[in-house]
Amino acid sequence: MDKKRKHFDALVAGSGISGMTMALLLAKTGKKVLLLEKAKRIGGLMQRFKRCGLPFDTGFHFTSGFGGIMDNLLRMLGIGDVVKAERFSPPGGARLYIKASDRLICYPEKSSEVCRVLCEHFPAEKAAIKRYFADEAGVFANTPAMHFKNMEDFFDFSAGPGSAILEEDLITLDEYLDRLAVSPELRAVLAMFAMCHGSPPSQISFANHCRVSFGLHDNIVKVKNGGDAFIRAFLREAEKLDIEIRCETFIAECLDVEDKIAKSVRLNTGEIIDFEQAVLAIHPRSILEILPEKVVSRTFRERIDKAEDTLGFFSLHARLSPKVEDFPVALTSCLLSLDLNRVMSNEHPDTAMAIMTAVEKIRNEEVQTVNAFKAMTFEDCRQWRGCPDRSADPSYQAYKKKQCAQMTADIEHIYPQFRGRLEILETATQLTFADYLFSSGTAYGIKQKSGEFNIIGKLPLRNFFAIGQSALLPGMLGAMISAFIVFARITEDRQVCELFTPEGKNI
Ligand SMILES: Cc1cc2nc3c(=O)[nH]c(=O)nc-3n(C[C@H](O)[C@H](O)[C@H](O)COP(=O)(O)OP(=O)(O)OC[C@H]3O[C@@H](n4cnc5c(N)ncnc54)[C@H](O)[C@@H]3O)c2cc1C
Repeated sequence: MDKKRKHFDALVAGSGISGMTMALLLAKTGKKVLLLEKAKRIGGLMQRFKRCGLPFDTGFHFTSGFGGIMDNLLRMLGIGDVVKAERFSPPGGARLYIKASDRLICYPEKSSEVCRVLCEHFPAEKAAIKRYFADEAGVFANTPAMHFKNMEDFFDFSAGPGSAILEEDLITLDEYLDRLAVSPELRAVLAMFAMCHGSPPSQISFANHCRVSFGLHDNIVKVKNGGDAFIRAFLREAEKLDIEIRCETFIAECLDVEDKIAKSVRLNTGEIIDFEQAVLAIHPRSILEILPEKVVSRTFRERIDKAEDTLGFFSLHARLSPKVEDFPVALTSCLLSLDLNRVMSNEHPDTAMAIMTAVEKIRNEEVQTVNAFKAMTFEDCRQWRGCPDRSADPSYQAYKKKQCAQMTADIEHIYPQFRGRLEILETATQLTFADYLFSSGTAYGIKQKSGEFNIIGKLPLRNFFAIGQSALLPGMLGAMISAFIVFARITEDRQVCELFTPEGKNI
């Protein structure tokens, strides 16, 4: 047999949370799986990195879903024993600072409690706040994919007509808020979690906004050891299930395309891989690069060409030196402008920022760390794209310095006790994310605009499927759910449900 030719049942390209999830699901049904990752390390945006021995998160800081669907997904993957939620201290721990009014709102746990706190802050607009929270909870309750408990639920859903479209899918968040007729400040507060899906209120459907924001209003938590907890758990299971993982490896060309099916590919390493199904857990524009031109219709190409990227982030990673007495472990979102549409198109220099504070231990010493993320779009750093040695370019360094100075001033305004103590250890622009992940460096893939269809499931090659954050809903949870839904669609034998037992005793 040709040494440069190997057979696998399934091939998964992209090892972010969606690719890792899909690889595990397929392997648990006994399939021989090959997972390809173009970067040097697996994990995509879930990876952490270390500076001065301290771990920092890149693209995963907090999530919703624990105590609900996340527990069910982790159990079915057999990793619920090691991926554990960690509450902020004080509980709730999520706060919102609004620069225009110098107002700080502390969010308690539970959506109903958040509603109550906002009514206290905006007493004249109580009725509108209650209406908003009722509608948000209604969309969440009526979205089946957010409530699946076991594998049968995913199979039932995938066998049905597809996702149920709600009335709220057909209006934008802006249109909904116009009807609600709230003050500009409350409007920004209700739309704030747009930062967690990356599409501005004028474009996101009210329903998709609610699908992301309800969970975050209800139960926002960190994960112990951040994204590394998922990667370690995945590697443990991958070893048991004999998943083959190849880094710095990607599909160079589809081969033997017949009747819109490609059963083999050539990798960049020259090796030829035969397989039954391929799942692409990568940015839709990268999918287009893989599919042979002859199978891609003009409509499909235009759909992807037209798709817009979500916002990205400028990130700053620091430690406090010396330490402070008053150090909450919290997530503080900061609205530096009230107009989220302008913020998310970078038309406003004061955008929005999230500040995560944490305590890390190295060599038995507790260190206080600060991760801050400021919204930006690709336009911000387009001029340095393709620049051979950006880091040596004085204009790029000056841009980064200016961002850091602005962010430091804003952080110190919100946390006066940090003044003069922030020691910046690393920064990253959207170009840094793009370099590491072979994408445009966006935070959430492509925008999920009201009235537009996502690229999920079957692709123009009939045995190729798309999953990931651009497929269903952005964020780690949305990327994971997309993998489960598509897994149920491509797995023809419903009997596999037996392998995902309620106790999580998978094969
Ligand atoms: C700064 C930042 C903060 C964020 N914070 C949060 C948060 O707190 N909570 C949350 O839920 N979400 C957050 N997100 C979003 C979240 O990280 C993503 O929605 C999610 O991780 C996306 O997972 P994925 O599997 O779709 O893609 P990715 O994680 O992007 O993985 C795709 C992988 O595919 C690889 N790849 C690319 N091209 C190829 C190819 N041709 N062949 C093989 N491999 C390829 C890439 O190298 C990458 O490893 C954040 C994002 C950013 C940027």
